[in-house]
Amino acid sequence: MREDATMTTNPYRELPAIERLLTHPRVAPLAERHGHEAIVRVAREVLDDYRAEIERSGALPEQSAAEAVADRAASLEPSLRRVVNASGVIIHTNLGRAPLSDATIAAMAAASEGYSNLEFDLDAGERGSRFSHLAELLARVTGAEAGIAVNNNASAVLLALSALCAGGEVVIARGQLVEIGGGFRIPDVMRQSGATLVEVGTTNRTYLRDYAEAISERTVALLRVHASNFRVVGFTEETPLPSLASLARERGLLLIDDLGSGALLDPREYGLGAEPLVRDSVAAGVDVTLFSGDKLIGGPQAGVAVGRERTIATMQRHPLARAVRMDKASIAGLAATLGHYARGEAIEEIPIWRMIAAPADGLRRRARRWARACGDAAGASLDTARSMIGGGSLPGEGLESPVCAIAAPPGGADAFAAALRQADPPIVARIERGAVLLDPRTVEPGDDRHVAATLAALCEGGSEASAGR
Ligand SMILES: *Cc1c(COP(=O)(O)O)cnc(C)c1O
Repeated sequence: MREDATMTTNPYRELPAIERLLTHPRVAPLAERHGHEAIVRVAREVLDDYRAEIERSGALPEQSAAEAVADRAASLEPSLRRVVNASGVIIHTNLGRAPLSDATIAAMAAASEGYSNLEFDLDAGERGSRFSHLAELLARVTGAEAGIAVNNNASAVLLALSALCAGGEVVIARGQLVEIGGGFRIPDVMRQSGATLVEVGTTNRTYLRDYAEAISERTVALLRVHASNFRVVGFTEETPLPSLASLARERGLLLIDDLGSGALLDPREYGLGAEPLVRDSVAAGVDVTLFSGDKLIGGPQAGVAVGRERTIATMQRHPLARAVRMDKASIAGLAATLGHYARGEAIEEIPIWRMIAAPADGLRRRARRWARACGDAAGASLDTARSMIGGGSLPGEGLESPVCAIAAPPGGADAFAAALRQADPPIVARIERGAVLLDPRTVEPGDDRHVAATLAALCEGGSEASAGR
């Protein structure tokens, strides 16, 4: 659509004046949203480009100037948005992993707001270390002598291997040469670090003697990697960690343990399977235990290394530690999250643990309300499915969960799920056997009304009145 429908031989005269463009119904609300100045700048840009196009081709572009302004203004909108996670995957890497506790968010905001003693020793009045803020807390909650946190666990693994193993051989079981996801593969990280990989055992079975026979004068460490995101079942054998620790001690080698998730609470107490606990690894005599801050710890993105004082100090001195250091907000956030464990309040305060421990009654009520909002016409009902832990933790495990199942969503399951993603904020559901499932376990109760209202609007048969109840 042209701005001006009157035919003229002069295409320049068809270009709207900037004042008129700014009052166009497509453009005026944008100024309110993004600020007058920003939209004036975009409008000028569009008009300049349109003049250039007339000069080049003698004609106006197809798209109206107002539409072009609206399109370009979309880039002023932040692309990273809050979404409602109704997928039932608690630590969803694609949805930002762990939602944070109130205290964690407050600590991150406080650290971001002004200046802090990030690298400043207030007692001595001189330069301090950013690593000092987490060292004691990490030791306290894990039982280790010392700890250091970096940007994420991938960088913690790279730092450990680079600082402790470069130039030497590292022995690892074949069954543990895993790819974590996003192209992070243990053999590649090993190469990057300058250590040489020595594989032992077979895909399914590795014995202590396999490790012992592979040790040479060039060996510096034994590495165990938790096969986080898959499970080998059947005829399998993994060497227990205490046996590896004894072997490492006897032969004067380091034992490094990459746990991935690294739980500080035992998931078995909440109806889940076993996941390696950081404390067990430390107690078994591991020199460096590595794990993520935003998987089962439930904090901000981070990679944690805990272990012996000297070993951690060596990592801290390595030049890579500077390259993969954490920022101040994450340090403050991780400290606040670890504080919940130190005070014994992790289950109540840390969202992922609250979700894991959520009582079925409350979940059932919420799922039923959503099903009512959707209505019979869409075949919506209360059903049960499995919430997954995600984040490479406890693969194949899950928690039985009441869900809202929509068996006959208008337009089909894919289109319905796509429509949910168009809501504001977007709602991410999952599809199982043709039905759209919404799992209340991963949805903050504050978002329940939004979910119900969106479902009611999408399932025409549903009664909107029941949405808020
Ligand atoms: C997830 C994972 C990593 C990577 O951790 P990030 O915090 O995502 O960088 C490394 N090792 C294992 C075993 C993992 O499960």
